[in-house]
Amino acid sequence: MRLGDYHTHHRRCGHALGEIEDYIKVAIEKNLNEIGISDHFPLRAVFDDPQVAKLFKKASMEVEEFPKYIKEIKGLKEKYKDKIRVRISTEVGFYTPGNALSRQKEVLKPFIDDMDYIIGAVHNIKWHESPVIPIRPDEGILREYGEDKIILEYVNKLSRLVDTDFFDVIAHIDFYRIFFHPNNPQYSQDTWQKLLDLLDKIKNKGMAIEINTSGILKGLGSQHPHDEIVKEMIQRDIPLLLGSDAHKPDYVGYMFEDIIEKVRKLGLSHLCEYEKREQKLVRI
Ligand SMILES: [Zn+2]
Ligand SMILES: [Zn+2]
Repeated sequence: MRLGDYHTHHRRCGHALGEIEDYIKVAIEKNLNEIGISDHFPLRAVFDDPQVAKLFKKASMEVEEFPKYIKEIKGLKEKYKDKIRVRISTEVGFYTPGNALSRQKEVLKPFIDDMDYIIGAVHNIKWHESPVIPIRPDEGILREYGEDKIILEYVNKLSRLVDTDFFDVIAHIDFYRIFFHPNNPQYSQDTWQKLLDLLDKIKNKGMAIEINTSGILKGLGSQHPHDEIVKEMIQRDIPLLLGSDAHKPDYVGYMFEDIIEKVRKLGLSHLCEYEKREQKLVRI
């Protein structure tokens, strides 16, 4: 079967390289049948304080860029329609508490009918007594709060993301693993159960989860999420799709052949695709 890559970025976000078209060309070269363009949704939709504007320059595109981004994908979709299906998306960082999501929805509203799927992602955590903790390697954070607390709060936040009923696909659901080297987070029984409850909830909502190969690239030893979670997802028949999270064109479809071989062995029989927010299962 031919595969699709549903998670890609490009130079607009400020920390990825290349134009959207470069990513599409690599997808064609690698014989993918679909590529989803899903650059980071403008953070400034949530944080409009000019003081922090500089901070966000390298995190995501500006709000004013978003219409241009959509227009560009539409043009490329048409241009390459005989070679590959180009899908329109965006990776929305989920924030709690407050009105972040309603502000994001407001900016997204004029383009909502263009969306083939919307990715929800958690890139930082915060609970009442903690500061905002960005998910990136940090020994100090681990020592201060402990591994299990970090994982638990990440899972709690994902659970709230799922409750919004706004997203189609969840990105890198064990992103907290970035804190852990090597690839071996220790779950307490309670936290592991919370994670399983989250998977049940995702299944009931009909949402999809991505298998994100960038975990391998980041040196985590495996994809996001790790095998134990993949097995639980397959057992529950949760719709899955592949994403490279490419920030360079060459990484489109990164390790997809190997991953597909692996998940087949774990029992996966279908992947899902999206068009205009309709999910379709395809046999692999
Ligand atoms: Zn990025
Ligand atoms: Zn992400």
